[in-house]
Amino acid sequence: MIRHLLSGGDLDAGTATEILDTAAEMATVAGREVKKLPALRGRTVVNLFYEDSTRTRISFEAAAKRLSADVINFSAKGSSVTKGESLKDTALTLQAMGADAVVVRHPASGAPHRLANWLDGSVVNAGDGTHEHPTQALLDAYTMRARLGRLAGLHVAIVGDVLHSRVARSNVLLLSTLGAKVTLVGPPTLIPVDWAARAGVGSAATDADPGTDVCYDLDAVLPGVDVVMMLRVQRERMNDSYFPSAREYARRYGLDGPRLRRLPEHAIVMHPGPMNRGMEITPEVADSPRSTIVEQVANGVSVRMAVLYLLLGGNNR
Ligand code: ASP
Repeated sequence: MIRHLLSGGDLDAGTATEILDTAAEMATVAGREVKKLPALRGRTVVNLFYEDSTRTRISFEAAAKRLSADVINFSAKGSSVTKGESLKDTALTLQAMGADAVVVRHPASGAPHRLANWLDGSVVNAGDGTHEHPTQALLDAYTMRARLGRLAGLHVAIVGDVLHSRVARSNVLLLSTLGAKVTLVGPPTLIPVDWAARAGVGSAATDADPGTDVCYDLDAVLPGVDVVMMLRVQRERMNDSYFPSAREYARRYGLDGPRLRRLPEHAIVMHPGPMNRGMEITPEVADSPRSTIVEQVANGVSVRMAVLYLLLGGNNR
């Protein structure tokens, strides 16, 4: 097993499948009256959050507690970070306190990689800037496998603000390792140029990557996919206008009832949350039985239990 989980690309197919299989076992704990295993008793997990989060932070906390670890929640607001303490000094403090694993969310891409150089324990990337969010990709893969029975050969459309999405990047890396085909869909301004080029779309077309495709037309893609993953439009990361108006965006790239009905009957709709209801997804779609949004949250706890358990060597003790 690897020591850190920093990127969706850190995992080969065998390790990723081991995490998903372990998560399926962990999910049985959630159905018990006492939702706890002794696996990480005496271990310390620190949640180090420099950016706001609802789902991810609570999910990691629940996961560590269900494995009986001691959990320390650190949020940058209200800490010495506001007095200017550097990430390195914070890391050394955590090290001195004997953290076995540090789960980090940070607005700067690459911060978890730096942390991994300074700490003896394991580092889990819980979202770094616009870069990566590997446990989200794992819980998404888990949800697809649970609903559709397999990952190899699935066709997944990832739709919307791909440019600012760490969820998209980690999903592309993990899903291609696991044999799924990904089509990135969005306005040209929100699809990274290098990805479009790699997929052979646009004037910069170079060596095409057969696993990842790019398409600017949502309606053309919908009838042929098994999964449609809608991304949040991340206005807080936009320092430019990438589309004319919210209305125009919703009209071209929002998933609404008529578009939902154009999907194959077995296809599912995913969203990592938080949603902009009415923009990238309508309430009718978000709350439909085809939507896995609430399941994704529940599966997130099982997947994070599996990650912490395997990184901390739970199976070797
Ligand atoms: N919750 C996800 C993330 O932290 C997705 C989002 O914020 O839109 O990256």
